[in-house]
Amino acid sequence: MMKFCPKCGTVLSIDREKQCLVCPKCGAEEPLEKDVIYSKTAPEKDKIIVIGRKERNLRTTPQVKAVCPKCGNNKAYWWMVQTRGIDESTTQFYRCTKCGYTWRDYS
Ligand SMILES: [Zn+2]
Ligand SMILES: [Zn+2]
Repeated sequence: MMKFCPKCGTVLSIDREKQCLVCPKCGAEEPLEKDVIYSKTAPEKDKIIVIGRKERNLRTTPQVKAVCPKCGNNKAYWWMVQTRGIDESTTQFYRCTKCGYTWRDYS
């Protein structure tokens, strides 16, 4: 990886003591881009944790009579989610016991 000095255009060299890039001509310093790589991976981890928690909750939810729009099965798991929006409405969720299809009912 090569980086150029923003002031004079000379190729920067790494200063191991200071942990930064230094221009050998004019002495300008540039920070190493370590932090950029780490911050990119963090949000993906959070997403996986959220999905896992949801799946665990589904096992304790009650079964109700509801027709699956995908396979026609008449039994589904049922649960409610309070949406913290402007209207604070409650959304009903259904999951087919046969094929696992999930759909919601706004009524
Ligand atoms: Zn320079
Ligand atoms: Zn189904």
